[in-house]
Amino acid sequence: MSSQLAATPKAFLINGEWITNPGDSFDSVNPATGEVNYLVSCANREHVNAAVTSAATAAARSEWRDMLPHVRALLLNKIAAGIAARADELARLQMLENGKVWSECKAQAASAAATFRYFAAACETLGAEVTPSRGNYLSMTAYEPYGVVAAITPWNSPLTMEAQKVAPALAAGNAVVLKPSEVTPSAALLLGEIALEAGLPSGILNVVTGLGATTGKWLVEHPGVRMVSFTGGTSTGRTIGMIAAERLIPVALELGGKSPHIVFDDANLEAAAENIMGGIFEGSGQSCVAGSRLFVQRGVYDKLVALLVDRASRIRVGLPDVEGSEMGPLASFAQRKRVEHYVESARAEGGQILVGGKRPVAPELQNGAYYLPTIIGGLSNKATCVREEIFGPVLCVLPFDDESDLIAQANDSVYGLAGGVWTANYQKAWRVARALQTGLVWINTYKQLSISTPFGGFKESGIGREKGLSGVRLYQQSKGIYWSMDANNLA
Ligand code: NAD
Repeated sequence: MSSQLAATPKAFLINGEWITNPGDSFDSVNPATGEVNYLVSCANREHVNAAVTSAATAAARSEWRDMLPHVRALLLNKIAAGIAARADELARLQMLENGKVWSECKAQAASAAATFRYFAAACETLGAEVTPSRGNYLSMTAYEPYGVVAAITPWNSPLTMEAQKVAPALAAGNAVVLKPSEVTPSAALLLGEIALEAGLPSGILNVVTGLGATTGKWLVEHPGVRMVSFTGGTSTGRTIGMIAAERLIPVALELGGKSPHIVFDDANLEAAAENIMGGIFEGSGQSCVAGSRLFVQRGVYDKLVALLVDRASRIRVGLPDVEGSEMGPLASFAQRKRVEHYVESARAEGGQILVGGKRPVAPELQNGAYYLPTIIGGLSNKATCVREEIFGPVLCVLPFDDESDLIAQANDSVYGLAGGVWTANYQKAWRVARALQTGLVWINTYKQLSISTPFGGFKESGIGREKGLSGVRLYQQSKGIYWSMDANNLA
């Protein structure tokens, strides 16, 4: 994998122009090799102000505000085509910055294009409503954009998250200021370039790069921002939610998770094992829906754990651009340190490391932020590793006795993003799916995701639902209109 140190920091996009802040920049580091990719500009307060002002001005222009839905849809489809045409470039940027393996980066780039196509279709077909009137009038509900949406994204899946926010926000008629993670700034910048080339009016999509505590915070605080869509950690979500509460603006928060993955003794253990592996180790476990707490009914516990340990020990950890690599590094050295800290806490709390629990020894991986797929047994549901989101390739396995014991343990979490259940009994599957306090449940599968199905968390995993048709409504406010039919009121 090649990397190069750019002489000047990457520029960000404001009002259709590329801006650099040479005075204030940071390194983008390739976690697979430890090399510096390039410098990235930090947007300061003035830049944030310019981005929000340009978005507000562009959103109010009739060129955008009055654009007919089918014309807007055409534009979104052109952006989708641009993403598809530059999918390799997008995938490569993500791989360089967060170390995901090439096949996953490619799949996420393709899915980003599909997301724009889906919201183009939604834009063209989503109607307003005529509501039942209680008198001689016509009553209607119309849907209008907020104006300027601040979209703030994490580093684990920037291609997916950015498309998931920008496409519906534009479909809904807003202008967007996008602030990607400092770890993965480049896909957002390329998306901005693609959108401009597709003919999106200047100022409708602005991209500012920088740190969360400065650039991100200034953006959320800016009085011109009318709605915030955030995906990231729960504590950051809480901070953003507090600012939004103070400002009385709506927020959508997609936050962390500690998802229970459940296997009953009547399940297809081979199929479950396959899905448990993907559910926790894909993307090196850096997935908000990672099935990181595995509950196994006691009768099949030993058998399933043996299957998992065998599979985990055979996962090919390697450089993300090498064919056959199944798991790349963590997205940063800080993230690996965090994972190591958690595994140490598991050891201290009596956990048994069944596989992994250390860095790989292969010479070509020594400069990157690699960590082996790790399975830990022997912990109680109260242990730190079982309660807190690790966001790494670490699976905690716990036995359960019966359904009520399982439900009590699975729901004993501040999080409520996703869950999975494996059983051949359809009544049990239905009961457990309904009893889990999570925004998403998979039955006899795991991590199936579709843009057409609303996504979001219960409890501290978030507020609001992205994706699906409600993903467009998330970025709109409804307006009730009463129109009298009484001819006497006309003259
Ligand atoms: P993070 O919360 O540290 O950062 C997310 C984004 O917020 C980044 O762009 C960051 O710069 C910005 N930010 C940080 N502090 C800010 C502040 N005070 N004001 C405004 N912006 C600020 O999260 P992360 O480490 O990038 O991502 C990992 C987390 O994201 C995990 O907890 C994971 O579960 C979560 N996540 C959730 C989903 C979901 O859909 N629920 C999806 C992916 C990731």
